[in-house]
Amino acid sequence: MGLRKILTDKEPALHKVCKPVTAFDSKLHKLLDDMRETLIDSNGVGLAAPQVGILRRVVLVDVGDEILELVNPTLLETDGEQMGAEGCLSVPGKYGLVLRPYWAKVRAQDRYGDWYEAEGEELIARCFCHELDHLDGIIYTEVMERFLTEEELEAD
Ligand SMILES: [Zn+2]
Repeated sequence: MGLRKILTDKEPALHKVCKPVTAFDSKLHKLLDDMRETLIDSNGVGLAAPQVGILRRVVLVDVGDEILELVNPTLLETDGEQMGAEGCLSVPGKYGLVLRPYWAKVRAQDRYGDWYEAEGEELIARCFCHELDHLDGIIYTEVMERFLTEEELEAD
């Protein structure tokens, strides 16, 4: 089975800096395939390798028409800002208010090691930033303004 267990933010793995990927081999491809299955199964927008206990710089981001595989991603450029609700599969049932750039452009390698760039606004920009933070051991609850209240969540 390709489904991997999603760790919560109580696990030490979620708070460590991840190492770059150096081997674009079948092991990486299996990880990416499993992460894709896990992301789809959990109805998330993004998933980072440390969330499944792998301390490597790998994230997936659902950009709408496809799920991007970002290996060794870096933030190239951002523009504007947005304050909005953000959640995380590793912090189940909670949402916080987080300030993020409105637009973001990233550079990453694909599963074969080829570099490419991707950009997005609103939710996609938010997701790029959120997932890249995971690779440095940062959970959104460490950078948020505050948690949303039950009343605010119900109003949505
Ligand atoms: Zn997350």
